Amino acid sequence: MPDPLIAIQDLGISFRGRLGYFRHGKRFWGVKHINLRLEKEATFCLIGESGSGKSTLALALAGLQSFHQGGLIFKGQKIRRPNDAVHRAVRQKMQMVFQDPIQALNPFRSLRQSLEEPLSARGVRAGQRREFLDPLIREIGLSDRLLQRFPSQVSGGQKQRVCIARALSTRPELLILDEPLTALDGLIKTRIIRLLGRIKEKYPMACFIITHDMDLVRAMADQVGVIYLGRILETVSGASLFSEPAHPYTRALLSTSFTPGIWTGERILLKGEVPSVRHLPTGCIFHTRCPEASRVCETRIPDPVRLSSDHTVWCHLYSPHRERS
Ligand code: SF4
Repeated sequence: MPDPLIAIQDLGISFRGRLGYFRHGKRFWGVKHINLRLEKEATFCLIGESGSGKSTLALALAGLQSFHQGGLIFKGQKIRRPNDAVHRAVRQKMQMVFQDPIQALNPFRSLRQSLEEPLSARGVRAGQRREFLDPLIREIGLSDRLLQRFPSQVSGGQKQRVCIARALSTRPELLILDEPLTALDGLIKTRIIRLLGRIKEKYPMACFIITHDMDLVRAMADQVGVIYLGRILETVSGASLFSEPAHPYTRALLSTSFTPGIWTGERILLKGEVPSVRHLPTGCIFHTRCPEASRVCETRIPDPVRLSSDHTVWCHLYSPHRERS
């Protein structure tokens, strides 16, 4: 198997709780034991509910969040500590598009100024910047007139296009998109999904997409990871996610989609509240809400079970030594 663009190895990120203004509480793991591979020029979608650790993981990839266990390997180079020399060099090859385009753009700069920022930071001269950006601007569907405006004078969809164009301007090898559709409404969402598909064909690069939008997953994903309370519960190819979802949590997530064709069965309602990451349930962390939980789930952490070469699930239902009671 060829080396992946990036391998996440046993990654853990912890946080310290607060007991008061001056007193710190115990450390807790926001994400732990994360092992994922992102292949070159492929798209990996990470799905899960809010608060499951998706954005924390994306920020760690981008070098904007410290990690406290494990590491990252980018094209064979090991990143042992966040922001070490390797990570700083690797960061030049990554770009990130944030969830909220309003906060991502400087309100006092024209869209063109914002667009040119990453290139001018790398010392690219004005003439060259135009040469470099003009084909990209046409591809993204932005006009010169629109780029003279300020963020407050354009729509959310147009702002997100500028953010995507800005991220692509340095021709990254990895584009990280953190909930890129959340701030957009229906029609604009569909246009941005089409745009992402088009630019992915035109500019070969890997994408790591954080989302709970199943339309986006269906349109883009080569590989999918399902995360709950900071732990991966299933990894599966984009094609098999919809035809053979294995983990009870994955099935529940898919069943909440209203898009035709994504889920044909009944809606699966999960019982109870999402537990706090500070007090994780024992055994399988999903057992307090799982419709298929049995006694063994309360005490034993499931081992990964490989269902096929690109499908792994962490659930006792698939264990070869299944012990149910
Ligand atoms: Fe549900 Fe048990 Fe599987 Fe966890 S291990 S997902 S509780 S059936």
